[in-house]
Amino acid sequence: MELAGVALGIATAFVFAFGLAVGSFLNVVIFRLPRTGLALSSPARSFCPSCHNQIAWYDNIPVLSWVLLRGHCRGCRAPISIRYPLVELLAGLLSFFIFQAEGLSLRYIFYFYFAMCLTAIAFIDLEFMVIPDVLVIPTYAVGLVSAVAAPHPSLPGYHLYGYLSQTGWDLRLISVTGAALAFILGFLSLFVLSFAYKLLKGHRGLGEGDPLLMGLITLFLGLPSILPVLLLSSILGLISVVVLVISGRFPKSGLGLRPIPFGPFLALAALIWLFWGQWFLSWYLPAIL
Ligand SMILES: [Zn+2]
Repeated sequence: MELAGVALGIATAFVFAFGLAVGSFLNVVIFRLPRTGLALSSPARSFCPSCHNQIAWYDNIPVLSWVLLRGHCRGCRAPISIRYPLVELLAGLLSFFIFQAEGLSLRYIFYFYFAMCLTAIAFIDLEFMVIPDVLVIPTYAVGLVSAVAAPHPSLPGYHLYGYLSQTGWDLRLISVTGAALAFILGFLSLFVLSFAYKLLKGHRGLGEGDPLLMGLITLFLGLPSILPVLLLSSILGLISVVVLVISGRFPKSGLGLRPIPFGPFLALAALIWLFWGQWFLSWYLPAIL
């Protein structure tokens, strides 16, 4: 193998391992953030939620420890959720795929941060039906910095982008204007939908955090992502409701059916668009612009 090939292999392994380690931290965020009284920094060491014993470093190796312990605490034998290795593996794979697409660049850092935020939000919303502001609001700032530091066409089509740059617009200005516009329209799209639903039905159909999450997604992914992300998340949501109903596992609460969170589907649609959106646009947009 050539030297360049060896270097790429080492970089790829490092990027995957980095993702696994971040995934391990993400598990702490997902467990502690929605639970009052648990700060992210204290207790400093991870503990078993069942017997409260500290977890030794060798039982805290991403994915591997869970497999070796066959999903049980070494101390009290309480089962450890499969969510832990799943989140770690997901973070490792996301890191790997973003590296494949962007290389070791500023864009890798920003998109990886974005993907990790989406993952944490999806799992917290799934369990607690809440999207923590602390994960969403500061990430707006990261998104705007990303639009300035690593400019990318967040406006529809290359024609408009090319036209603006020809008329003397700075690339960074186009990028950040597009991102801000995408944020406003992305937020409004779900906010108006949610408002109209409440007006018609008399109760909320969406969580308060959903429009804010939609704004975050479109801030990072740009104006052309609004319709595809809305469409894709609705389809994914619908499919899972059908699957849950057919398999008799639709969550029930007291009198009726428990609502299912929309955040995980928005997050999943955003990740799909992050990887395949550009491909889809290059095939679709030239036809309409
Ligand atoms: Zn235990």
